[in-house]
Amino acid sequence: MPDRHASFAAAEPRDHGLAEPDGRRWRVLLPLPLAGAYDYWARADLGIAAGSFVAVPLGGRMVAGVVWGEGDETGVAAERLKPIESVFDVPPMTEMLRRFVDWVASYTVTPPGAVLRMTMSVTDALVPPRPTAVCALTETGSAALADTASGGRMTPARRRVLAVLADGPSLPIVEIARAAGCGASVVRGLVDLGLLRIEMRPARVPRGVPDWHGGPAFSSDQAAAAEALVAVVRQAQFAVTLLDGVTGSGKTEVYFAAIAAALDAGRQVLVLLPEIALSTQFLARFAERFGTAPTGWHSDLSHGERRAAWRDIAEGRARVVVGARSALFLPFGDLGLIVVDEEHDASYKQDEGVIYQARDMAVVRGSLGAIPIVLVSATPSLETVVNVERQRYRCVHLASRHANAMLPTIRTIDLRRDKPERQRFLAPPLVAAIGETLAAGEQTLLFLNRRGYAPLTLCHTCGHRMQCPNCTAWLVEHRFLGQLQCHHCGHRESLPSYCPNCAAPGALAACGPGVERLAEEVAARFPEARMAVMASDTLTGPRMAAEVIDAVQGHRIDILIGTQIVAKGHHFPMLTLVGVVDADLGLAGGDLRAAERTYQLLHQVAGRAGRADRPGLVLLQSFMPENPVIEALVSGERDRFLAAEAAARRQHLMPPFGRLAALIIAAPDAETADFVAASFARAGPHMPGVEVLGPAPAPLAVLRTRHRRRFLVKARRDVGIQAVMRDWLTRVRVPSSVRLQVDIDPYSFL
Ligand code: ADP
Ligand code: ZN
Repeated sequence: MPDRHASFAAAEPRDHGLAEPDGRRWRVLLPLPLAGAYDYWARADLGIAAGSFVAVPLGGRMVAGVVWGEGDETGVAAERLKPIESVFDVPPMTEMLRRFVDWVASYTVTPPGAVLRMTMSVTDALVPPRPTAVCALTETGSAALADTASGGRMTPARRRVLAVLADGPSLPIVEIARAAGCGASVVRGLVDLGLLRIEMRPARVPRGVPDWHGGPAFSSDQAAAAEALVAVVRQAQFAVTLLDGVTGSGKTEVYFAAIAAALDAGRQVLVLLPEIALSTQFLARFAERFGTAPTGWHSDLSHGERRAAWRDIAEGRARVVVGARSALFLPFGDLGLIVVDEEHDASYKQDEGVIYQARDMAVVRGSLGAIPIVLVSATPSLETVVNVERQRYRCVHLASRHANAMLPTIRTIDLRRDKPERQRFLAPPLVAAIGETLAAGEQTLLFLNRRGYAPLTLCHTCGHRMQCPNCTAWLVEHRFLGQLQCHHCGHRESLPSYCPNCAAPGALAACGPGVERLAEEVAARFPEARMAVMASDTLTGPRMAAEVIDAVQGHRIDILIGTQIVAKGHHFPMLTLVGVVDADLGLAGGDLRAAERTYQLLHQVAGRAGRADRPGLVLLQSFMPENPVIEALVSGERDRFLAAEAAARRQHLMPPFGRLAALIIAAPDAETADFVAASFARAGPHMPGVEVLGPAPAPLAVLRTRHRRRFLVKARRDVGIQAVMRDWLTRVRVPSSVRLQVDIDPYSFL
């Protein structure tokens, strides 16, 4: 019998010619944004099955794809079919994952190939890594090195080679030659003489196997929650459970118990986290609990790490994967649990390429694959809460903080009454509280969700505002870098010394605060305090983020100033004061989820305060303390707030009580954008239960020099909105210069 998964490299090129009598047709899906799968034929002896990863010719090159099923005998004539070249030596894609790819494609109105590409993001992982040949010192070699008297055959170069290996591990020949400063022939010569021997080093370092025994002693609440999750995992069926617990209640410890149960059953586990690159504390905790690091999956991995991770996941060696949203598309062979931590987090929504909501798609993957799903949050999304009410999801609660830590006290500072000084942003009560916290030897977190120095730069003389040349957006000053930046397209320019409009020198002034400007104020007011700024652009990578977090944890920082990246999950025992500099910030703009999102974010930031034995205080600076979001935060009446939000959305048939889809048109110029928008308006769906809003210029009317128009389609819950969109798209002919985007269940309305 031929090997079922003949190696790509080993497959010999053959003269395929016409279809052979024993050949079979297969549908092969390629990871390209094409319409669908193509038929190919294959010799029976290739041993192809549905799910096999295969190499096939496409337009003169070889591409890797996946066998999606049997071919269509009534399709393209057999003699015109191209042959499948070879089968990769990797486990086939499970039927479950193939169904998931089709499902996501259909739901998001994207070609299946575009979704498949997310599952095959590292193509060279399909080829098994090869063992490398390395050289080691033999006994004769050691003896020769020790024998300083042995002249003759021992040249200085040979001696250096032996010395390299005497001091270190076995190495490939080229590396030894480089280290010894000689040619590879010198090393080979020593092999021939028997002073060195060649060994094969396995291609990868085996991953540590997590040890799931042990774990902390649970409180009775925690034990009950953990038991409920463990029971679901053992049943190994699809069920969604919301783990709803206040910040610091031990949610992580509790879902670790569910992970342990899945490992005990021999299954794989996926944990999705927002901002995985910033999750060093999580990774450390995981390693402490399970004795080994999980397999990470995020954008900061090197190509080699990615390749190793993908293969380990496909072959089942990676037992626990912790990743960002894209990890949902990895080729797990035997997934027994998916945990979505901070399930309410908006970063689970991917807004480019294939537009999907990873939390929602995790639930889909679970339902297709009989996988239990655990959603974790202190501030669950309205969608999830409604699903609990509808009894689609179960819910377990953790009502109090671990070890009797108190929840922080939350108060507002009314900025209309307690005004900061001119050009300053901290109101007197907050300044006083920071002073007291410093005096008590405790830590403060100042939260402002704005990167850079100032969100707007304007000219005092003529009122000119510095705007991005490519986008409908103000340029943000980054003073550390001496730059103005566009946060939408990445455009950068240096801050001019005169106004580009009226040429007045030195007239450009910063308007409003960003974290850098706040840091300037803090440094002026508290020169003795040790301070750090944490924003996505001040951290150059996960290592630097880890250093800052470590410094805060080790109390080498007194005041931490940060954007939303500090809000997430960190546990700082000495942090007792949280100051929210602009609690109103997220409420402007009137996006569907603005209130909910602001509540979640501020609640999460507030949750950083007083997590250990010292009580925490949270001060919210606001111009509208009577806003329901701020009131709910102060009173702690989360459920009442959610109920009011739900009532408003139900009344307007907004999600999750109705469906939304956006159609975004992006054209090279305004005329084309308007023309295409008008065509879509004329062809728009007319049917009961569907309402089309627009076209309207998008709030970001120009983005990366493209002119954008938006439609918003609102439909009743019983309407299949995908079919409506698909049909609409077929009815308009669009010039090739125009890009269309369909966003099902949009989160961004820009
Ligand atoms: P959450 O995820 O709900 O914010 P964590 O799981 O991070 O809460 O728990 C908060 C802190 O309390 C962590 O330092 C955690 O290790 C600790 N903790 C929680 N439960 C226990 C327990 N049963 N025993 C010991 N420490 C615990
Ligand atoms: Zn821009």
